[in-house]
Amino acid sequence: MEIYDLTAHELADLLRRGEMTSAEVTGAIFKRIHDVDPDVQAYVTLTEDQAYETARKVDGERGQGRSLPYLAGVPAGLKDVLCTRGIRTTCSSRMLEHFIPPYNATVVSKLAAAGAVFTGKLNMDEFAMGSSTENSAFFPTRNPWDLGCVPGGSSGGPAAAVAAGEAPYALGTDTGGSIRQPASLCGIVGLKPTYGLVSRYGLVAFASSLDQVGPMTKDVRDCALVLNLIAGHDPLDSTSAPIPVPDYTSFLTGEINGLRIGIPREFFGDGLDAGVSEVVKASLDKLAELGAIIEECSFPHAEHALPCYYLIAPAEASSNLARYDGVHYGYRATPDDGGEYDLMDMYMNTRSQGFGPEVKRRIMLGTYVLSSGYYDAYYLKALKLRTLIRDDFSRLFDQFDIIVSPTSPTPPFRLGERSNDPLSMYLSDVYTIPVNLAGIPAISVPCGFTGGLPVGLQLMGPVFSEGTLLRIAYAFEQNTPHHRARPSLEGSGSAAPGTRRVPSSTSGLTPGLKECGVHEHGGGGGAVRQEGGCVHE
Ligand code: GLN
Repeated sequence: MEIYDLTAHELADLLRRGEMTSAEVTGAIFKRIHDVDPDVQAYVTLTEDQAYETARKVDGERGQGRSLPYLAGVPAGLKDVLCTRGIRTTCSSRMLEHFIPPYNATVVSKLAAAGAVFTGKLNMDEFAMGSSTENSAFFPTRNPWDLGCVPGGSSGGPAAAVAAGEAPYALGTDTGGSIRQPASLCGIVGLKPTYGLVSRYGLVAFASSLDQVGPMTKDVRDCALVLNLIAGHDPLDSTSAPIPVPDYTSFLTGEINGLRIGIPREFFGDGLDAGVSEVVKASLDKLAELGAIIEECSFPHAEHALPCYYLIAPAEASSNLARYDGVHYGYRATPDDGGEYDLMDMYMNTRSQGFGPEVKRRIMLGTYVLSSGYYDAYYLKALKLRTLIRDDFSRLFDQFDIIVSPTSPTPPFRLGERSNDPLSMYLSDVYTIPVNLAGIPAISVPCGFTGGLPVGLQLMGPVFSEGTLLRIAYAFEQNTPHHRARPSLEGSGSAAPGTRRVPSSTSGLTPGLKECGVHEHGGGGGAVRQEGGCVHE
């Protein structure tokens, strides 16, 4: 195994034993990024100089014998929807292409306090709307297992980066499946925590009643370790739960004897790929072999989850995205003739030019369902359905410890295959969306391959059952080989083996990317510019 293939906990152990320095690990990861990212295209922005600076600081502290958090000095990537002070945060949108936040998201501050070495900002579907990362305004990310396939979305950049060895772990976000579906398609672990377990402060909002931040990792232990770092009450997020957080690694016992697992038959019906079904069924046999009691059950309102989500999520998005008006943040349209628009024309042109087609579709849908006359017929109806879906889960959790299903109905699909058919794209999340509507946690773990492409198993549990989910996921993982598989990415990369990577100079924004405008947050005199810029333009 190469350094870039190792998990975060394996790297942490190397660092603690003094067998490598954080600067060396960071060098190995950046070498891998420079070798394969021209093909994978996971990163929107690299922060190489800052990464080496942090790595050297951690190395210095370790050298002085200071006791450091376990993952200190291990590199990590961030989905580009999490605000990073002084570093461009684009949401893969033209609207925020040059937006430099003046503050860090709470999860970013927490990782930074634990000594994380940030590699950069990772590509995504624009404003997290999509299931393939093809809705990025910049470029699509490719699946490291087959560069002709999508990595899933909207956290396709984080998933592809972790799978390709371009980041030992990353943070993603999940509103309807955006951590779990790309984790499944890229053969990694992804956890969507209980709504309220992880702070949303500094996460650019898509649908506020559904959004959660979570870990995307190579194995279950890393997932527990990263969740330890990011979970917990945050006074800056009023929806964050004031509850104590356990040490999630204490659940990794390998013991699942007697656990009751429900298999909802509605999650195994029409639209499920035969290869995925076969791999998932073999995984259920494995869980039974390990001592779990597996029983079929019913989730009566399953078919209503997708329409319910596509009323609620766009409704909230239309409200959240109203702030992008050319005045507060980001892009502002100016007329070609160098003159000035009046206010309405400025709003209209800014939003027409700044948003991509999928974002516009969501804003129009959301505005429609919230408009007077349609509110009761659509939005209120959807809220009632949401309660029925939540009730389906509660009833099942009276009977079962967890519910298991495929994460995604299909393996990774070809780039372009679903781009012109929004409904088939929306169906990618048919098994993940009910979880967000109910606010419960769910994890996707690699459970095998079909046609050489990864398949993920989704475990869903009651609110705040992350410990149980991790316990079962760990037992499954430790008794199967899938999490150790790595994509070959043959043909990728040209740098000679052992090439020493020196930090790039602080270059500000890459040519082709304009500097932030004066009306942008932090764009004035005091702004710190990010290094590296967009590596693909
Ligand atoms: N694919 C779903 C959507 O497009 C979910 C996205 C997400 O979880 N951010 O809305």
